[in-house]
Amino acid sequence: MSISPLNSELRRHALAARGFMPEDEGDALYVAAVHAAQSEPNTPFVAVGSYCGRSTVWLGGAARASNTTLFAIDHHFGSEENQPGWEWHDTSLVDPRTGRMDTLPFFRSTILDAGLADSVVTMVGDSPTIARHWTTPLAFLFIDGGHGVEPATLDYQLWTPRVAQGGTLAIHDVFPDPADGGRPPYENIYLPAIESGLFEDVSATGSLRVLRRI
Ligand code: MG
Repeated sequence: MSISPLNSELRRHALAARGFMPEDEGDALYVAAVHAAQSEPNTPFVAVGSYCGRSTVWLGGAARASNTTLFAIDHHFGSEENQPGWEWHDTSLVDPRTGRMDTLPFFRSTILDAGLADSVVTMVGDSPTIARHWTTPLAFLFIDGGHGVEPATLDYQLWTPRVAQGGTLAIHDVFPDPADGGRPPYENIYLPAIESGLFEDVSATGSLRVLRRI
């Protein structure tokens, strides 16, 4: 079944939001999520790592188009690679009161401005903690959280068992060639998923990998 792309109004909001999701990968994410909802109706989506809500607009749009709900998980204090001194730090995201990063106000504005508040549940907390208490099967799981070895490993171990049979796992920033980027999303999420025999490749767009649970 062909899937129409994200509408132009939501696209405008996605592209206006801060973040690291290229447009073509966001579009691939959207199509994968809508497709996942078609095979697993009435089953929610989870996204780990929301930052300022850029990818959330594509996924929230997919949830809305599919009459389901996206649970968007982030502690909103920024990942390791977003902290001062790291490559992906944005000083304008620091809360002057605490001196700590806080992306929640930016995330909330993105979702409200895009009109997606009814389709996106904002879950503010530590991904492994939420995962340990989460039992609902997922139509679609997007992992784009902390990109270090430990957070990537925990997101793989704790979240991927929640993907329903026939459901979809999408992973961002997967770089098989070390020259292109960091290793953990590839070595600690993508490879273990494939090697587990529980997931098969569906598509690749840039650094986005889409897998299906067998
Ligand atoms: Mg990413």
